[in-house]
Parts: sequence; structure tokens; C-alpha cells
Amino acid sequence: MKKAMTLSYEVGDNLYINITNQCSCNCIFCIRKNDDGAYGSDPLWLEHEPSMAEMQENLMQRNLSQYQELVFCGYGEPTMRLDFACELAQWLKSVSPASCLRLNTNGLADIYSPSPNGKAAALVSQYFDKVSISLNGGDSATYLRVTNPKNRPDNAYHTMLQFAQTCKQNGLDTCFTVVDVISPEEIRLAQQVADSLAIPLHIRNYIS
Ligand code: SF4
Repeated sequence: MKKAMTLSYEVGDNLYINITNQCSCNCIFCIRKNDDGAYGSDPLWLEHEPSMAEMQENLMQRNLSQYQELVFCGYGEPTMRLDFACELAQWLKSVSPASCLRLNTNGLADIYSPSPNGKAAALVSQYFDKVSISLNGGDSATYLRVTNPKNRPDNAYHTMLQFAQTCKQNGLDTCFTVVDVISPEEIRLAQQVADSLAIPLHIRNYIS
């Protein structure tokens, strides 16, 4: 495993921001199983969790306004450092007010984030413009099989759906994703769930 301090990297017109390698899940499609980076980036395994000063120094070297979106994604689950992510988002809005901030998340912060339970969507809605949530299946069994959340809590699927609904209700531009490692029938069921919540679903191709 190669390590570096790659705190941001470009993907198309967007800038991806890497604040942690911690994750509460072990998704069967996780890009981290096969590589040390993503989309041609330098290694995304971090030598240490970056401080706020390190993140700001890195991001100030970028022309932030040139990017379509600033995406909290990286090589881990950003909400494992939810308070840190929100503080950084707030700072980004202060130095680049027109930037669109997107959070890519597994939607399980209310279970795994050190922040208070039940408040994750409210926090995220306060600091981000968009949120992309891994739906990963149309029912709990598929979800648990694909996502493998730590300790496989019975309420994981429901918690993720609740997070998505609250983000949408709070006015956040909200979407779901699935990766095509599940069957066409399972994708159809996931689409039904997304449709029932009036949240768009993006089907991503598995990157081996
Ligand atoms: S939530 Fe993201 S980082 Fe974590 S295992 Fe799944 S794909 Fe990988």
C-alpha cells in the first residue's frame, strides 16, 4: 500500500477532497480493494489524518472557482470526520462563496459519526449544497451484502434512507447511487425505492 498526503485531486471538472481513510463499511465494489488511488490520482492512502491547517494550505494552492464542484469523497467515508468536514465546508464557502460543495457519503453518519445521533442530515444540510448517497440496493438484505457496514446493524438501511429523506426535505440537492455489481432485478428494486422517495438514482459502472 503506497501512502502520500494527496489531500485533493482533480476528476474531470471537479476537485475531490480527501479528508480521511476511515470508513464504517466494506463495500464489495470499493475501489480501495484494487488500487492505491482513483481516476489516475496519486496514492490516496494518507500518511496521517490531515489537520485543518494542512487542508487549507493544500486547497489554497488551487483556483477553487474553476471547478464545477468541490467533492468531499476521497479514500474513505468523509462523515467519519463529520464535524471536520462541516468546518472545512464552512471555510471553503468563506474563501470561495460561489463553489458548489458536494458530499459523497454512505449515509450512515447517524450510526458511526462521533457527532450526536440523528443530527447528521441537519449538519450536512447546513454546510453542503449537494449530497450523493450510496443506496446500494432496494432492500436491507441486498444493502447489507453489498455495503457490509461494521457490525451489520439491523437499522443500517433504514438509517441511510432516513438520512437521504431528511437531506432532501432540508432542500439539499440529493441523489442516490448504485454500482452495477448487483443484478438487473436488484437495480430495478433500488430504482423503485429511489422513485418512491422522489430522489434521482445514478447507476455507476464498477471499476475493477
Ligand atoms: S463507503 Fe466508500 S470508502 Fe467505504 S467501503 Fe464503501 S465504497 Fe469504500
